[in-house]
Amino acid sequence: MPWHPTDLDDRSLAHLLDALTDSGQAISIYDADDCLRYANKTYWDIFIKDFEGSYSFSDILRYGARQGIGVKVDGGDVEALIARTYLRRRSDTRKSFETDLLDGRWFWMDQTTLANGWVLTVGADITALKHNEKTLRHAHEEALLASRTDPLTGLANRRHILELLDESLAANKLSGAGLCLAVIDLDYFKSVNDTYGHDAGDVVLQHFADGCADRLPQGRLGRMGGEEFLILLPDARLNDAVRIVEDIRGSLPPVKLIEGALDLPYTFSAGVTEALPHDDRTTILYRADRALYDAKAAGRNCSRFSFERDLLP
Ligand code: GH3
Ligand code: MG
Ligand code: MG
Repeated sequence: MPWHPTDLDDRSLAHLLDALTDSGQAISIYDADDCLRYANKTYWDIFIKDFEGSYSFSDILRYGARQGIGVKVDGGDVEALIARTYLRRRSDTRKSFETDLLDGRWFWMDQTTLANGWVLTVGADITALKHNEKTLRHAHEEALLASRTDPLTGLANRRHILELLDESLAANKLSGAGLCLAVIDLDYFKSVNDTYGHDAGDVVLQHFADGCADRLPQGRLGRMGGEEFLILLPDARLNDAVRIVEDIRGSLPPVKLIEGALDLPYTFSAGVTEALPHDDRTTILYRADRALYDAKAAGRNCSRFSFERDLLP
């Protein structure tokens, strides 16, 4: 025989009530005047505890706010929460929402408004799920950061600095505020490796990255690979950009490979260019690379710039 609700006899009803009472789900029924008519033990322990009063929905919330039990109230204003909730409480026959409890637990509330205006709520503890979600979100953020970061220097890696270049080019097209790009390459870096070893070369790369990062706002500097770096200079014209690069050159201290040992001076060459209206990453990088080539050809440890419109790859 298929089961039908009307078959529920008194004994079954008593069992059902027992089961509801023992359930780990938080179950409550409020009548059309929002007076609590039934709450199982789980609901009671969360929202009511020692409360004795009218058992109206709003008084239960007020009591919780006073006692530090029940739901977390945004901004601590329980009257605002009551006013907000009352407006929406019976707006849909079925609704579901998350509830953040003061004891650190999270519940997923499933609420049904019956035809007579009574409201049944069944809440499931989703604290473990929320923790998993948080762990996953954290892992995702870490992975995203790692995918954008050069492990040796902690700077934006090639992929990310080029994404930032694309964004800067797009923003400059809208604002017209000016955008400059500097490609920087350390001079005779191979001889640092050859003379002092690869680890010493790594120390020089880190030293340069730290020195530049200290002198530039966040998100303007990236490592393109090897001993080559990229600097983005939004809101700058060519003369500003060359001055910023030369300031870096003038203020970079020599690197100490070993504490107490002699300083190792190192230099860099820079190719600087300003964005033209139709630039994309390829055209602007091409011009900056050409300028860098000129700086190397001019003897290194200097900046050269390029702004020729017809200089295309
Ligand atoms: P130039 O002045 O013309 O730029 O000469 P250079 O010696 O700096 O340029 P070259 O391209 O000949 O050498 C670059 C060297 O950088 C070669 C390579 O082994 C080294 N290099 C690339 N990546 C790393 C790194 O992550 N760590 C270290 N220590 N060396 C690296
Ligand atoms: Mg080099
Ligand atoms: Mg190089």
